[in-house]
Amino acid sequence: MQIKDAPSVSVQSSSTGVTISEKHPVKTPQKVEISKEVISESVAIDGIPSKNYYGADLYGRPLNVLELKKLSGITPSNANNTINDILRLAISGVEHDKILTNDKIYLTLWLRANTYPQSGYSVPFECPLCQSESNYDFKTDDIVVNEISDKDVGDIQEIEGDIYRFKYMTIGDETRISKFKDSVKKSMARYDSEIINIAAQIEEINGQKATIMLAYDKLISSPQIFSRVISYLNGFDFGVKETFNVTCNKCGEITTAGLSFRPDFFIPVYRHADAT
Ligand SMILES: [Zn+2]
Repeated sequence: MQIKDAPSVSVQSSSTGVTISEKHPVKTPQKVEISKEVISESVAIDGIPSKNYYGADLYGRPLNVLELKKLSGITPSNANNTINDILRLAISGVEHDKILTNDKIYLTLWLRANTYPQSGYSVPFECPLCQSESNYDFKTDDIVVNEISDKDVGDIQEIEGDIYRFKYMTIGDETRISKFKDSVKKSMARYDSEIINIAAQIEEINGQKATIMLAYDKLISSPQIFSRVISYLNGFDFGVKETFNVTCNKCGEITTAGLSFRPDFFIPVYRHADAT
C-alpha cells in the first residue's frame, strides 16, 4: 500500500520544487549498508524495512548532544515517546505521523550509526554453554532487516462475513491509541493493550472507516474473527531483526544476543588505549 498523498516535502535548502522521490530514487537493498561517511546534513536513508512504501525518501542527520542526552535517558516506560521525539527532530522527508512503527528501530539505529560512524557497540552476553562472559562487537553491518511484504496489507479481506481493510501502524496511530486509552481511562481494565494495537490496524469494516472502539468490539466479538485477523497481520510483519548471532570468546559456541538501547549505546563510553 502506497501512501497516495505522500507529502512532497522539500528537505534542507532544496527550493527546486523537485520531489524527493524523483531526486533520489528509492533503493531496496537486502543487505543493509549504512554509510560510514561522516555526514553533517540530512541525507537520504537507504535500506529502510518498509522499502519504497512512502513513495518518498526519508532523510536523517547526525544527532546533536542534546538529542543524544535525551536518548541516553531511555527507560522501558519512556522509550517509545523518547524515540518518537528524536525521530520527529532528526528524520525528514515524510510527515512524522506517517512513519511506520516497524521502521522506528531501523531509523534509530541509522541515526546512531551516522552520529558515530566509526564507533561500534559492545554487547555483553553470557555464553549458555560455558557460562563465561563475552562481548560482541555490534556493527551496523550486522543489522538484518525483514523487509515489508510485496503483498498489499490493504487488500480487502473477507473474514466471517465482513469485509476488512487493514493498514500498517504508524506513529499517528500511536497517538490515536493514546487518545483512545485516555478516553476509556475509567474502564481501561476492560481493554487489552495488544488488542487495541491490532484494532488500530483495522482501517475499514464493510467500507466504513473503523474507529478503534468499533474495531476492538469486532475483534473481541468472536475467537474466529480474532484469530483470523491475527493470522493475517502476522503475514505482514517486518522490521529490524533484534537478535544477532554471536560467538563466545572462550569456547566458540554460537548463540544469539539481542541489541538493547542502553544509555551507553547513544553516548558511548570511550576507553583510553592501554598505556604501553
Ligand atoms: Zn562459551
